[in-house]
Amino acid sequence: MGSMSEHDWALDGLRVIVIGAGFGGLASAIALSKRGASVTVYESYPDMTKQGDVIMMGSNATVLLKRWGNVLPEIMKASSLPSHMNLITKEGKLILAQKLPSEFHGNPNVYTARGGAQAVFYEYAKSLGVDVVFGARVSEIYETADAAGIVANGVKHEADCIVAADGVHSKARGFVTGIPDRPKKSGFAVYRSWFPMSRLLENPLTKPLAESENPIFKIWISEDIHAICTTNPSLQRATCFVTHKANVKEDWNLPGNIDDMRRCVEGWDPQLLAAVNCIPEDCLIDYKLLWRDPVRKWISDGGRIALVGDAAHPHLPTSGTGGSQAIEDGTTIAVLLARTWANRDIPLAFRAFERLRYERTSLTQRMGWETRHVWHQTDWEAVAKNPELLSLPQPEWLNGCDAEKYAEDKFDAVISHLQKGTPFESTNVPPGHVHEDWTIDQMLAFEGKKVDKDFYKTR
Ligand SMILES: Cc1cc2nc3c(=O)[nH]c(=O)nc-3n(C[C@H](O)[C@H](O)[C@H](O)COP(=O)(O)OP(=O)(O)OC[C@H]3O[C@@H](n4cnc5c(N)ncnc54)[C@H](O)[C@@H]3O)c2cc1C
Repeated sequence: MGSMSEHDWALDGLRVIVIGAGFGGLASAIALSKRGASVTVYESYPDMTKQGDVIMMGSNATVLLKRWGNVLPEIMKASSLPSHMNLITKEGKLILAQKLPSEFHGNPNVYTARGGAQAVFYEYAKSLGVDVVFGARVSEIYETADAAGIVANGVKHEADCIVAADGVHSKARGFVTGIPDRPKKSGFAVYRSWFPMSRLLENPLTKPLAESENPIFKIWISEDIHAICTTNPSLQRATCFVTHKANVKEDWNLPGNIDDMRRCVEGWDPQLLAAVNCIPEDCLIDYKLLWRDPVRKWISDGGRIALVGDAAHPHLPTSGTGGSQAIEDGTTIAVLLARTWANRDIPLAFRAFERLRYERTSLTQRMGWETRHVWHQTDWEAVAKNPELLSLPQPEWLNGCDAEKYAEDKFDAVISHLQKGTPFESTNVPPGHVHEDWTIDQMLAFEGKKVDKDFYKTR
């Protein structure tokens, strides 16, 4: 896809409220603003300085970021590209050195700092004229026949439509779906740390990690638990995560206790234990992993409010693509609104968005559970014959996708499908994939048990 022409500036006059300034909200704001919409983002945090560790942005995200001024070059400055992901037993035996593709179709896979990347998005959004209002907690959402609005800090604001990117705890989701569902515990939490790489130099076992020119990406696996260490030489930062079975309290960002973290991996590979010992106490959080059932309804009854990102489809970290899917959502919604704005048909654009995105994200949500399950309930006999069974999936259907081009290419077909009932086939999923709805409870029933390999849809 070439650069945008004047012809694409089709959203003049459209006023959009975006709720949330995470990747989904900022991506939506940027994509809409680039096409001429007037966008205001309401974010409950007081500013953009959020704590963050590492995020992997697939080439399916960077293909879109490339079209956003200096966003990708800025993010690349703070990124690292590990050549391999090493899968290791808890005793320290290497099972698989998975070669990680550095790019798909010339678009890099990027491992970068979450907070830094978000700040780059924010600066770019501001440069486009997006108004971001911090400290604005949205408490009410409504729509009328020709407008949609919010109440933030007791003040009413109205626009032509709302893009709700308010994350896994989404308030908008209940309004849109009519179902008062709450995020469900996934049964696991993650000890997450993000600290200066120099700390690793202090122990002879971790020194080689810090001295390696190639960024490190190591995963230790065992039943019901896995640990990850990464380094980012560009930023001189390291991470150490331990995903563990847990029922942590409702607070979802508890300070972590280093002794508890250590206990989780007691007796494991001495290098992992040494890495845990390098973590400064104030750099550790215990983060409860939440998700929600895939839901088919992302659009309000009046058609003026759309859910995007984790508000529509929360991802577990093991999918490695929740942020990238949120970015795909934002660019998709902008294309569809632009293509329908001449007729002022926002509900049609939003319904097309839901149709183009639901099957893909239902699958990428499931991928998070499947990868975790493969690592936690490993079929060691099968792995002995084929270690690739443990790989981190980075397939062409996922990483090779250009969501903006997909929305352009599929526009006529999806509109015809919605208006005339003609068949529509998603091609942003694996070839031959037949969509099946699923629920969290169905997946959780298989925790602690092996499953037939055909049960996995993404591996
Ligand atoms: C530990 C972990 C690791 C992950 N690793 C990866 C990875 O490597 N790669 C990847 O692609 N994805 C990863 N993900 C998933 C990814 O982080 C999320 O899918 C992505 O950030 C979702 O973006 P979002 O904008 O939809 O939601 P969020 O980033 O949650 O943003 C929602 C925003 O809305 C604001 N908000 C909420 N309610 C209100 C309100 N009422 N009023 C105003 N504002 C409100 C919040 O303050 C927040 O800023 C990971 C997730 C976790 C938990």
